[in-house]
Amino acid sequence: MQGIQGKNVLVTGGSSGIGQAIAIRFGIEGANVAINYRKGLEAAQETEAAIQEGVDRCMNEIRDAGSKTMLVQADVSKPDEVNRMVDEVLAEFGGLDILINNAGFQIAGDSEEISLESFQRVLATNLTGAFQTAQRAIQHFLAEDKPGVIINVSSVHQRIPKPRFLSYAVSKGGMQNLTTTLALEYAGRKIRVNGIGPGATITPINRAWVDDPEKSAEVVKHIPMGRAATSEEMAAVTVFMCSDEAAYITGQTLFVDGGLTLYPDFRTAWSSE
Ligand code: NAD
Repeated sequence: MQGIQGKNVLVTGGSSGIGQAIAIRFGIEGANVAINYRKGLEAAQETEAAIQEGVDRCMNEIRDAGSKTMLVQADVSKPDEVNRMVDEVLAEFGGLDILINNAGFQIAGDSEEISLESFQRVLATNLTGAFQTAQRAIQHFLAEDKPGVIINVSSVHQRIPKPRFLSYAVSKGGMQNLTTTLALEYAGRKIRVNGIGPGATITPINRAWVDDPEKSAEVVKHIPMGRAATSEEMAAVTVFMCSDEAAYITGQTLFVDGGLTLYPDFRTAWSSE
């Protein structure tokens, strides 16, 4: 895709699932990719190897451009670690062009019972971590007076309520305003801020249903397109949104959800006839 080759990209939570697929796709497109991981160095190294493999396999013609990868450990819920993560990327790559705020997790529980600590823990990673990393990236873009792109990996639950996952839904709702407000604030400074809103995607976060045929069938029943997404489908849209092909798009969240946000219950009229 146009405008990706040679760019320096940081993907948070890049050692598994959607983040891993995004990191690999950027590598295949010729970008230098910093893979942030909180733990599980082994998976992070696998991602790095897969990027290299992808580059080897698909990018012979741009090999001379020399895609680079690096691993950077940090818990994005911890301000000091976010600062160190960004500093390490700047030191290694000499700059940053694209930030993918992907790290996220969820905790289930009835809302009348969840602890304040668990609520804040989800917000600290999914929303505050994304804000702080975006802030550091924007400071860098402004200091260098260069264009920058930020993608917030949100969720259909930015729009659709999620009972028993209140902190997750609140974090993704907050992400919508993180995206739109930053987009508006920096639109005149060559910085684009967008989101993607994945629907049900086959990744480790969905262990609870992915490996259970009955539960999987129940999930798929609710999806108008009749199947869950792959991480690669999320990666393709993410890289497009960062490319020059999307140069005029800012402040948008693109839902990549097989129709989940289209009120699937209304597939057939049930209240008018
Ligand atoms: P995943 O669990 O495979 O990936 C999440 C990654 O974030 C993991 O690598 C995890 O280690 C990392 N992470 C969590 N807390 C972190 C922290 N404090 N610091 C650094 N890294 C941290 O799941 P996934 O499905 O690939 O999720 C990626 C993103 O996509 C998340 O933001 C999630 O909310 C979003 N999403 C996923 C789905 C889905 O169905 N899989 C749907 C909508 C949105």
